[in-house]
Amino acid sequence: MNDCLFCRIAEGDIPAELIYRDKDLLAFRDINPQAPLHVLIIPRKHIARVEDLDSADTELAGKMILAAKKIAKEQGLKTGYRLVFNNGPDAGQEVQHIHLHLMGGRRFHWPAG
Ligand code: 5GP
Ligand code: ZN
Repeated sequence: MNDCLFCRIAEGDIPAELIYRDKDLLAFRDINPQAPLHVLIIPRKHIARVEDLDSADTELAGKMILAAKKIAKEQGLKTGYRLVFNNGPDAGQEVQHIHLHLMGGRRFHWPAG
């Protein structure tokens, strides 16, 4: 059995509040939101982190960003939003299945913490 949390969400074994899906991607609300809107966009295919993307994943990686844009528009984030890929331990990546954080509905600081 696949013990990857986000693969299990993608397979429907673990419930999540889905807000977008297509043949390649899934997006669902973060269980511990850091902003009024906090969504995770994942590929259905298991890729552990940005470091593991290769040139064959170029279109998939682009689709993740375009899905974020579509969701942000649908959710009415008119004044901006933040997109984040945490990659590896120094970035605090906790789930080893690549995911794009889409956060909006408040002001964000820069530089990020
Ligand atoms: P990371 O630190 O790996 O970039 O982010 C992982 C994110 O996944 C965190 O924001 C965390 O709240 C979220 N998360 C962890 N477990 C679950 C879960 O079971 N369901 C959902 N929806 N989000 C989760
Ligand atoms: Zn996975």
